[in-house]
Amino acid sequence: MSGDLMDDDARWAAVLRRDRALDGRFVTGVLTTGIYCRPSCAARHPHRDNIRFFADGAAARSAGLRPCKRCLPDDVARDEGAVLAAIAAIKGSEEPLALADLAGRTGYSPTHFQRVFTRHTGLSPAAYARALREERARQALSDGNRVTDAIYDAGFSGPSRFYENMEGRMGMTASAWVNGGKGATIHWAVVPTSLGDMLVAATTKGVCRLSFAEGRDALEERFPAAELIEGGDAFAALLGQVVEAVEAPTGGFDHIPIDVKGTAFQEAVWRELRKIPAGETRSYSDIAAAVGKPKAVRAAGSANGANNVAVLIPCHRVVRSDGSLGGYAYGLPIKDELLRREGAPGQPRLDDF
Ligand SMILES: [Zn+2]
Repeated sequence: MSGDLMDDDARWAAVLRRDRALDGRFVTGVLTTGIYCRPSCAARHPHRDNIRFFADGAAARSAGLRPCKRCLPDDVARDEGAVLAAIAAIKGSEEPLALADLAGRTGYSPTHFQRVFTRHTGLSPAAYARALREERARQALSDGNRVTDAIYDAGFSGPSRFYENMEGRMGMTASAWVNGGKGATIHWAVVPTSLGDMLVAATTKGVCRLSFAEGRDALEERFPAAELIEGGDAFAALLGQVVEAVEAPTGGFDHIPIDVKGTAFQEAVWRELRKIPAGETRSYSDIAAAVGKPKAVRAAGSANGANNVAVLIPCHRVVRSDGSLGGYAYGLPIKDELLRREGAPGQPRLDDF
């Protein structure tokens, strides 16, 4: 949408959702305080009646307003240039670049540069570089290269660094992960179920998050740059299927699409979890063996725990080899109840602990 074609209602809506995409298209003058802001300014929103929109900073200044010290509305173009330059430097470097080094190239202080970069990409420069290396490693691995080649191709200094970085990390589709969900639309809702309040979120490809006792804040943390929309017609149909699957898990849920992305190892573990039939359980060593890494029992446990979509990727069907429940991200009562509903034999009841 071009700035010229926007009316004030559209501008105000952009201000209310702190839309970064419209930074540089107009500024918001606050007549009571005498300052003007970019649309995405993080400061508390002024009253609508006290606002006047201007095409740019120059227009606002000639009306006697001063730029906001928090969002620095006159720096939009400079910020964009700095972020693009930093991304190019990160991509072109074999070694991780220090924050001070990156900031020095842009003329910003490290703290200010970190804030600007994070506002644009949804990730800190260090996290962005890490995600980029992981993505390159994933790509190299899926191209069928040997693991060690993939490690060096991706710019890691050696195998131990590679595994350190991959451990416990979890992504989505590559671009969504690198940009904090930028460009992705995620519909979500919190619904009451017999297991407590359940958060369900989905991209156009499938369910990307299913959890308990979480709300919009948790979702925003995972997908800081995505557009989050509560509800929606198409989403409501999917939501209905998910609730049914959770309330009656023996019915199976292979028909429900999921949208997750992890390391090659995590994805292999999640695929194995999907193969465990309702009413059965596996141990962490069973899963490690099933993905061809019988010694990676602890890593299988971590991959299990990094699962973003509870129930549909049935990590609750993995228990300790002694038959005890092991852990569960949302508490053992929910794991116990899910297994009971599925009719898993010989589950120790929580009362036994
Ligand atoms: Zn401001």
